[in-house]
Amino acid sequence: MSPADVVLRNGRVFASGEVFHGGLAITGGKIASLGANPFLPAGKRELDLQGALVLPGGVDTHVHLRDPGRRERGDFATETVAAAAGGITTILEMPISDPPQYSPEILRNRVRCASERSSVDFAFYGAAGNRAEFIPALADAGVVAFKTFLFAPPAGREEEFLGTCAEDDGALLRILEAVAETGKICAVHAEDDSIVQRCTAALRREGEKNFLAHGRARPPIAEVSSVNKVLRYARHTGARVSICHVSTPEAMELIRTAKRQGVHVYAETCPQYLFCDEESVEHLGPFAKFNPPIRSKKSSDGLWQYVLDGTVDYIGSDHGPFLPSEKEPGLSDIFACPAGSTGFEERLPLFITAVREKRVPLQRTVDLLSTNAAKTFGLFPRKGAIAVGSDGDVVVVDTERDFIVRRSCMKTAGRDIARLYEGRRLFGQVMLCLVRGRVVHAASEEVPSASGWGRCVLV
Ligand SMILES: [Zn+2]
Repeated sequence: MSPADVVLRNGRVFASGEVFHGGLAITGGKIASLGANPFLPAGKRELDLQGALVLPGGVDTHVHLRDPGRRERGDFATETVAAAAGGITTILEMPISDPPQYSPEILRNRVRCASERSSVDFAFYGAAGNRAEFIPALADAGVVAFKTFLFAPPAGREEEFLGTCAEDDGALLRILEAVAETGKICAVHAEDDSIVQRCTAALRREGEKNFLAHGRARPPIAEVSSVNKVLRYARHTGARVSICHVSTPEAMELIRTAKRQGVHVYAETCPQYLFCDEESVEHLGPFAKFNPPIRSKKSSDGLWQYVLDGTVDYIGSDHGPFLPSEKEPGLSDIFACPAGSTGFEERLPLFITAVREKRVPLQRTVDLLSTNAAKTFGLFPRKGAIAVGSDGDVVVVDTERDFIVRRSCMKTAGRDIARLYEGRRLFGQVMLCLVRGRVVHAASEEVPSASGWGRCVLV
């Protein structure tokens, strides 16, 4: 038998819902065999995992790299190195860019930029907003899903949001009808803009601009009301909808009920809503500013129930780097800086730590970080599984040794704003990350640049 391209031995491999001792062989970018050490073939390259855990590479459903727009914040090159360092082998890139991909031509240009620079595989959402006439053509061009925002573009960022916003209910209904025709998913940022605008205006009138004012400007009811509407429209149109970054137990409860009633809805949440609460906001202000906002401890605790019961389908990092100079005005006026932060590199360690603390089973974690997203977005079993014939996308994790999160050690170009988990003691450092059999990240050494190795995953 000819040797495999790469053989990983002596690991604890998570496959088909179980952990076995042994490894796997990858040839031609695909997993060729799995088994106990004595039954693995010889490899041109052999890696001894020393008992580390091997998981399917992460699929991140919520990513904002924006390239070729705003490359000073980080681009497909820098940020996909960070993704690999966080065990993420496939990213689903959102449409916010200059310009957003609301047409096949713009999409092709972004795919080209990502192909030239990305180290990990990628797929793109298409923008679904006030350019809805392009939806069928975008679907044919291979977007993984669509994304729509239910608000007017933020002031000063109109170009970045062009074609992504459904500015009223009629527009949303039309978009969902058009997306339903394609059979693809419409991901929705669900916060009621009229509530947000009124709350913000009232706070500004009172001169409120402290760190917690951002959360008061976007209260839970803004999310709950909007999710309720989207679920109604999904039921009416038959569209498959994904509710992005759900931050409240109340919205989760609506989603759970809708799922039981047969609405085609999927729920995403993000680490910051599960592992942080308003205490982080009080300390970090602009560096803990997200839309929707990080909420109370009670809310964060309440979300976990939905992580465990299957209401949450997948975890998106919402990774989106900014420059310190963009965040710093928020120190004196929280409304004066953009929302969002990095998150690729902490996602897996946060969950591995939660597994150790017995807050969540390993099986559920793998589903949330990889398998469910692959299944929902049509990438399975190529992605999201360690199985013969699947892509050789694997992450090797050290579950036994702890480490302290230090932004100075991060790969993201946004490391200066990556303060949310600074100083936290976590487990689950990524030792190795392979994309289609190629090592794109190793904790112990610098690996040759894999920029340009990443491929577009068309669906
Ligand atoms: Zn986002």
